[in-house]
Amino acid sequence: MVTDVILRTLRRMLPSITALLAKHTGDCIICGNRRGSKQPGQFSALCSPCYRAIPWISRVYCQVCGRPEHCPDCIRRQRSGFVINRSAVRYDATIREWLALYKYRGNEALEPLLGAILHIAYRGLRAQLTRNGPGAASLRFDAMVPVPVSELRLLERGFNQAERLAAHLAAAENLPLWDVLRRVRHSGKQSNKTRGARMRDTRHLFAADVSFMTSRLQQLRERGSAAADPAGCRLLLIDDIYTTGSTANACAEALLIAMKKAAPAMTVEIYCLTVARS
Ligand SMILES: [Zn+2]
Ligand SMILES: [Zn+2]
Repeated sequence: MVTDVILRTLRRMLPSITALLAKHTGDCIICGNRRGSKQPGQFSALCSPCYRAIPWISRVYCQVCGRPEHCPDCIRRQRSGFVINRSAVRYDATIREWLALYKYRGNEALEPLLGAILHIAYRGLRAQLTRNGPGAASLRFDAMVPVPVSELRLLERGFNQAERLAAHLAAAENLPLWDVLRRVRHSGKQSNKTRGARMRDTRHLFAADVSFMTSRLQQLRERGSAAADPAGCRLLLIDDIYTTGSTANACAEALLIAMKKAAPAMTVEIYCLTVARS
């Protein structure tokens, strides 16, 4: 019995131990095999099979949420606070495991890898917007806003994965990071709920700090970024997984409400960027 528990615990810890050792030995941070040499530099911490297992979304089907197949959620949604979402990869078994290693087992070695995947989603979003709208030179995001986790989740996990990944992207793209959203109440584990229940439950789940936004907008004005621009302010909401879009939508609505108070005359557009689309 005791041996069983020990074995089970060890097995559960194995991926974390593998990754921890790999970080120091130069092996693949996922499986511990020898690293590949052919993949792009930001993925050099992986072996070739792990790199090839990344389920990139190469063609989107739903133009709103970026899902690579038919999407019932965007049709069902009556109001949308965000313009579009783009994700880099499908939420398959591989990505589920990588995110779990990072989020629940606290394996920080995966952070640059997931940050790099998010960065590819960002390039995809920019490319898409440049094709359909203003040229690349005038396309600008004013700030990145991470989707918050509840206080309870923060205590359990010790960090907010969306905030960490957003910080990676903010540093890479030299953009401000606005940690302005708060969860007003704890909604329970989203992963245990049906899609319909998630869409109902996330209403008014978030609020944005108006005074924080007012002061950040002032900073942007001083830098000549927003407000002076007739195109207004463009915010990028960041999360790890996009499922039904209800979290993204609730966050976007909270941001729009706060921006209306902070800068009533300003046009605000919110885009959403996620690592994986489930
Ligand atoms: Zn590997
Ligand atoms: Zn959709």
